[in-house]
Amino acid sequence: MNYNIDNKGYYGEFGGAFIPEMLYPNVEELRLNYLKFMEEDSFKDEFKQLLKDYVGRPSPLYFAKRLSKKHNTKVYLKREDLNHTGAHKVNNTIGQILVAKKLGKKRIIAETGAGQHGVATATVCALMGIKCVVYMGEIDIARQAPNVARMKMLGAEVKPALSGSKTLKDATNEAIRDWINNPLDTHYIIGSAIGPHPYPDMVTRFQSVISEEIKWQLKAKEGREDPDYVVACIGGGSNAAGTYYHYLNNKNVGIIAVEAAGLGVNSGKSAATSALGKVGIIHGCKTQLMQTADGQITEPYSISAGLDYPGVGPLHSHLYKTGRGEFYSATDKQAMQAGLELSKLEGIIPAIESAHALAIFEHKQFKPNDIVVISLSGRGDKDLQNYIDYFKL
Ligand SMILES: *Cc1c(COP(=O)(O)O)cnc(C)c1O
Repeated sequence: MNYNIDNKGYYGEFGGAFIPEMLYPNVEELRLNYLKFMEEDSFKDEFKQLLKDYVGRPSPLYFAKRLSKKHNTKVYLKREDLNHTGAHKVNNTIGQILVAKKLGKKRIIAETGAGQHGVATATVCALMGIKCVVYMGEIDIARQAPNVARMKMLGAEVKPALSGSKTLKDATNEAIRDWINNPLDTHYIIGSAIGPHPYPDMVTRFQSVISEEIKWQLKAKEGREDPDYVVACIGGGSNAAGTYYHYLNNKNVGIIAVEAAGLGVNSGKSAATSALGKVGIIHGCKTQLMQTADGQITEPYSISAGLDYPGVGPLHSHLYKTGRGEFYSATDKQAMQAGLELSKLEGIIPAIESAHALAIFEHKQFKPNDIVVISLSGRGDKDLQNYIDYFKL
């Protein structure tokens, strides 16, 4: 069994490109060029240089001594929270802005829910001096004011999506409409390991710098490249895909995914896509999807805005279906407690998304000598108000 994408753009039965006819030329242009660009030395050099000097990579692999002691195993944290802009998302937006430049594009569009991907996109557009339009649901604009302000400061235009539920999926529809109308000069930066082929593979490759670094960092600290487990939270699945990438076909390394169970997997208020989903089409790819019996997408819920997505990337559907990955889901409560625990034990306040990965200890007991690497996908500054409200701080 191979867990990488095949030459038709599928991971097993999942993936593909289910797009309106009018988007075909854009997606095809990308498909024909992305690997060629990424293999060029000049592209690799520029990508590496920006990751180093602008993002601040390599991100540390930190041995969490007190957390390890508490859970009686060896825990390392991959510190994506220390990246410029505070999360892993910038690894991908740096990569895609370079692809857009190579394609001669003069304008970038993106959609965002909580605003994290919008900020990461606006950031790289400012860096390159390229025009940026971010679509965001009208309701999300109201509830994510600080990120809207950040995008504006960075020079992006934030356009409200006024249709439907006025949230992420409506913003996605607007972005797709824009791309159809501006096929020649515009590149659409998707923010997770989702979308029509080649997006899931392209995003995964840009994020794979995470596991590339884990390998040599762990070798230096433990004398071996392979941990016993890699653990990540899953929204669409990009930090997870990057954390797993270089271990996908290495059975010595266990792959663990943690989704958001919200108020409980069977509460009707969750985003536990793998547990609840059925095969369907979302965002241009075939994958596991939360839907009603007649195929309408179910509104997801999680306390964490970044995990509040009704689908999951096709790679992860494949890892789930084949049993290569162990999938768990953490409730709001478990994640918030895990976030507080990390703060008190290690002096690191995690993003609530990342706190879901840390809640793995509620679900699985590791052996004392196991090496467990957890992706700390982002920092908690953006979530302070949520922590304040939840813990009445
Ligand atoms: C957006 C986000 C996520 C979820 O996205 P993935 O594509 O699943 O990685 C996780 N953590 C943080 C900090 C985020 O901002």
